[in-house]
Amino acid sequence: MATADQVNQHSRVEEELRESELRFREVAEHMREVFWMRNAEDFSFLYLSPVFEEIWGRPRQTLYNCADEWLDAIHPVDRQRVCHAFFEKVTEDEYLAEFRIVRPDGSIRWISDRGFTIRSPSGEVYRVGGIAEDISQRKSSERQRRELQAELAHMGRLSTMGEMATGLAHELNQPLAAISNYAAASVNRLRKGNGSQDGLIANLEQVSHQALRASHIIRQMRNLVRKTKPRHAKVLVGQLVQEVLDLVESDLRHYQIHLRLNLDPQLPPVWTDSIQMQQVILNLTRNSIEAMVEVVDGPHELSIAALPTDGHVEISVCDTGKGLDLKMDEQLFEPFFSTKTTGLGMGLSISRSIVEAHGGRLWGQANSQRGATFRFTLPIARKGQVDDA
Ligand code: ADP
Repeated sequence: MATADQVNQHSRVEEELRESELRFREVAEHMREVFWMRNAEDFSFLYLSPVFEEIWGRPRQTLYNCADEWLDAIHPVDRQRVCHAFFEKVTEDEYLAEFRIVRPDGSIRWISDRGFTIRSPSGEVYRVGGIAEDISQRKSSERQRRELQAELAHMGRLSTMGEMATGLAHELNQPLAAISNYAAASVNRLRKGNGSQDGLIANLEQVSHQALRASHIIRQMRNLVRKTKPRHAKVLVGQLVQEVLDLVESDLRHYQIHLRLNLDPQLPPVWTDSIQMQQVILNLTRNSIEAMVEVVDGPHELSIAALPTDGHVEISVCDTGKGLDLKMDEQLFEPFFSTKTTGLGMGLSISRSIVEAHGGRLWGQANSQRGATFRFTLPIARKGQVDDA
């Protein structure tokens, strides 16, 4: 039989428990974030704070009845990724996911969800808890910023292509003239009946090669001028550089600029929008060419290198041009700053905004001998990375 003291102590403990639960509820039920708690064994829901109903637009009871409803509310595109992250990571204190949910009225909300484990005194995980936050507002401003930046980048590409039009027309003339010459020579041989089969085949192979070259240049121009929504993907830097070189090849030849390429063949792919990144490399390369054209004497050398650094790939464009004035260091990146008579002054500022939107950095330095080097970094693509644009 319990003594009066024991009974008193028991009710005091009960009272304290009730108070602590009340305090917990007061906090959880006034938070703007959803607080959730689930059983670590079957992942059934033990608690969901009321704001869940406002954000998800569904009654909490549906999740208490069937925990899978939580997954069903996730946008089909994100569902598998989140499901995988949750069940793999939540019992290891590593679950963190951003995903879209579809509310019953069809509207979409963005959620940031973070989980943690709750352990018994013996150290065993018996519950998992977490905080889910509605980040739709942040995502929407991010999207608006990205759209504006893409618009600006597109205007920059149009202006660059406008400036390059004469050179590119000249570059296109070459394969077209070659095609016409090889075709005329083949017709002549056939007419005279003195052409060997091998000679004819060689001519026709040249026709096909030159036609491919011309169509490649046109495709590159069309890609850069076209207005497309940015699309991130795993991309090899070597390929980006090569595609830009196709467009500046005629300038390199015309101004007798020697090109050095140092692209590590083992470079991991980067996570980027190809068109925007080609635009950055094209801007830097054209600036280098223009800086070298201003220097009459001395070697004209353009070096493009790409090396892996800490979690990033660093791409550098180095020239032996007129170099940089230290006093203007940061001014160079300001919109409309140009020292050229026909310069728009947008190239570096747009390039920096593109690189920073990709999570990288862009900067320039005067070389110790002559010329300047501009470098930028891009994050290495992660496994399973998806485009949330
Ligand atoms: P623009 O090329 O239209 O002038 P940018 O924003 O691309 O606009 O460049 C701004 C300025 O930065 C250039 O006018 C030039 O003075 C300087 N600059 C950029 N790249 C180089 C370089 N490689 N060498 C020397 N100066 C450079």
